[in-house]
This record gives sequence, structure tokens and C-alpha cells, in this order.
Amino acid sequence: MKQNYENLQGVIPSKVQFRFYAELNDFLRLDRRQKVFDYFYHGPVTVREAIENQGIPHSSVDMILVNGEPVDLNHNLCDNDYISVYPVFELLDISTISKIRKDPLRSIRFIVDAHLGKLAKNLRIMGFDTLYRNTYNDNEIRLIARLQRRIILTKDKGLLMAKNIARGYYVRSVNSKEQTTEVVRKFDLYNIIDPLSRCLICNHRLVELSPAAIPHDLLKTIVTGFEVYYKCHHCHKIFWKGSHYKSMVNAILQYIG
Ligand SMILES: [Zn+2]
Repeated sequence: MKQNYENLQGVIPSKVQFRFYAELNDFLRLDRRQKVFDYFYHGPVTVREAIENQGIPHSSVDMILVNGEPVDLNHNLCDNDYISVYPVFELLDISTISKIRKDPLRSIRFIVDAHLGKLAKNLRIMGFDTLYRNTYNDNEIRLIARLQRRIILTKDKGLLMAKNIARGYYVRSVNSKEQTTEVVRKFDLYNIIDPLSRCLICNHRLVELSPAAIPHDLLKTIVTGFEVYYKCHHCHKIFWKGSHYKSMVNAILQYIG
């Protein structure tokens, strides 16, 4: 049989073993999920190519161990390697050992694809820096993500496959409430939620404003009687913690709880 195979292929394929962890398994075909499996290739092949050949965007990957040692995405596979692949932001802190990115993200910033507008608004309500425009195309999203070191949130696996993407997350849920829960849980954002710190319209940071500092022409556009208001210096919109705002925050806190 071996002889026949050599005749057919001209060369014996090399073999490594892969094991993917946690939600990376969602991308794998069923018989490869949650287990060690053999992967055959004709070299040279980088670990990035091998991972993406199996349908997994490299930007969903945070750490790769080959025979127990961390490697970067350009590592060339060697016959009989044992490769463990971990997703972005597993709850253990791998920033000191992962070789995939030189600089771990110091603050969490997102850019959200055009289909996830409600998720973007919910993240802003909770104070997370979240870029969103329904006019962004894929190239713009990739470029902004790279330049501003943002995590791409998307329902489009293809968007996460580009070489120059560092971090991305494929959102599984279809419902915007469940998506919000999923993202908060995935990136462990519970302790850094900061409601009414960011403009819901344009994502800029809000600054506090005393009622006396509100320009006259804007007074008729707000509900008066609050001690503190919040202004976006970019779009000039003014926010306050009225009943609408409170019910919005409460709703979110409920479904991420
Ligand atoms: Zn604004």
C-alpha cells in the first residue's frame, strides 16, 4: 500500500498531530473536535496555513504550542510535531508566554462588522470603545483593526482570515442580547463595565457637565433637573441618567448577569 501511495503522490506526506481547545472546535469538522487527530501535509507548511486550511481564522488563535513550546504563526511544521492551539483570551493569562503577538493588548477595543449594530450599541452603553459603521467594508475593518489594535467582532469567518489581522472573534449567537452576553463573558469584561462613559452615537468619551455649563440653545433638548449631565465633545450630544437610560443599563446588566 505504501508503495502504491508513493507512486500515486510522488512523495510521502508528513504528519503532525493537532489538538484544538475550547471554542476553536466550532470551526473544525465534526470528527476532529475535542480530540487529538493526525494532519497530513506536503511541506513546507506554516502552522498558520495548516490552521486556516482547517477553517480556523488565525486571528481567533491566541497561543500555539509545538511539543510544549510556544511558537509564532510562521513556524514551519516538522514531521511528528504535536501542536496545541488555544483561542483568544482564554481565562488564563498567556501574555507572557504567547509568541503570536509581541505586545499584548493593554486595553480592550473593538471594531464590529456591519451586521452587529445592536451589539455595538450595547457595548458602548457599557462603556467599551467600539467602532461601528454600517458602511465599513471588510478592508476598512481590517485596516482600522490593525492600526488601532482593535479586536474584530464579526459573524463573517472570512473577515478573520486575512494575514494582517491580529485579533478577532467570531460571534456565535444570533440574538443581540445573547451576543452581548457572549462577548462580555468571552473577554471577561464584567469588572470594567462603565456605563455612560462613552457616546452611544459616535463612541467618543463623554465628559461630565454641570447643568450651569449647558449651552442655552441645548437646554430645550434635554430633560432638566439632573445634577450631572454628560457631553460628547465630538457630536455635541448631551446625555443624562434619566429613566430611559437607566432601563437600558438595567436590561443589559440583567442579560449579562
Ligand atoms: Zn458623540
